[in-house]
Amino acid sequence: MKRIRGYKYRAYPNNKQKEFFEKNFGCCRFVYNYYLEAKQKLWREWHDTLSYNEMCRDLTHSVKRENAWLREADSTALQQSLRHLDRAYDNFFRGRGGYPKFKSKKSSQSYRTMNVNGSISIDERTVQLPKAGRVKIVNTRDFEGRILSAAVTKTAGGRYYISLQVEEVYEILPNSGGQIGIDAGLTNLITGSDLNEIINPKTLSRHEKRIRRLQRSLSRKQNGSKNREKARIILAREHEKVTDIRNDFQHKITYKLANENQVVCIEDLDVKGMMQSRRLAKAISDASWSEFYRKLGYKMEDHGGILIKVPRTYPSSQICSCCGEKNPDLKDLSIRRWTCPGCGAEHDRDVNAAKNILEKGLAMIASQAS
Ligand SMILES: [Zn+2]
Repeated sequence: MKRIRGYKYRAYPNNKQKEFFEKNFGCCRFVYNYYLEAKQKLWREWHDTLSYNEMCRDLTHSVKRENAWLREADSTALQQSLRHLDRAYDNFFRGRGGYPKFKSKKSSQSYRTMNVNGSISIDERTVQLPKAGRVKIVNTRDFEGRILSAAVTKTAGGRYYISLQVEEVYEILPNSGGQIGIDAGLTNLITGSDLNEIINPKTLSRHEKRIRRLQRSLSRKQNGSKNREKARIILAREHEKVTDIRNDFQHKITYKLANENQVVCIEDLDVKGMMQSRRLAKAISDASWSEFYRKLGYKMEDHGGILIKVPRTYPSSQICSCCGEKNPDLKDLSIRRWTCPGCGAEHDRDVNAAKNILEKGLAMIASQAS
């Protein structure tokens, strides 16, 4: 079977390549903004529009002539900016997104380029990119397949990443055939129905404390000052360290789950509730949750397993997993351990919830089958 998957690598460009990336980010932004403005003007004055092909022709035949410096950029990347703009408009007209906005230097620094006749390739230590040459990477993940495109990104903390989009032929990996329910909590990252708790790595809270301190120090610095810029970069780097630790941890857990189980049941994410949350800590934890779901989803698929999402409305923590009696007292989140008034079973709150989630998930599979 064939599928398209992304592979992301940390990159270490040399100074010349950094300079090229900087220039290329700028050129892509320029092209995007130039045609956004042109489209707006054309619509205002003539009620007319520009198609992707028209923009491409105009770019090569006139805009590049007037702006010679654009020729130093990766021309495929410039075309991708036009694609990007075209898609932004398309999404807007289909009601899937807001009206396209101008890109500023502050928006994310990235560009995408397509593989044209082997213009992009990878070996053990480098990725070959058009006009940039061989860029050093840490090759952590191997694949066999055809590279479709590459995206170069520079983060706020000054890191570089290259993400390759690859079409690969794949075989389904085995799993040990287990079944598990998972309760997603905040104190313990997740609790499994088989009594195993998987706890958030401790280093994380240490870094998070540091982030809060840096955040305070940043807010005290004067707007536009050099010190503020410095503090902003230090804070961004710290955020990236946390992301690293979390990513690594999530990869390990999701691999373990996918490798050991045929069925994993988990509560569905409350996306709407998440969007409304304004607290930073909550926002970070929500973002890391959706990332966890994403990783779990594709790993389960890799191993031919089933991921069942149990609706949030199901009161998994209030039902006794032994006798099925509902105990509304448990709406009080501070109750961690309890004894069922119906059957006398003793429960750990999270383990009990995980067992119920598994039960509910299995029932959902059964009802789909019948
Ligand atoms: Zn009971």
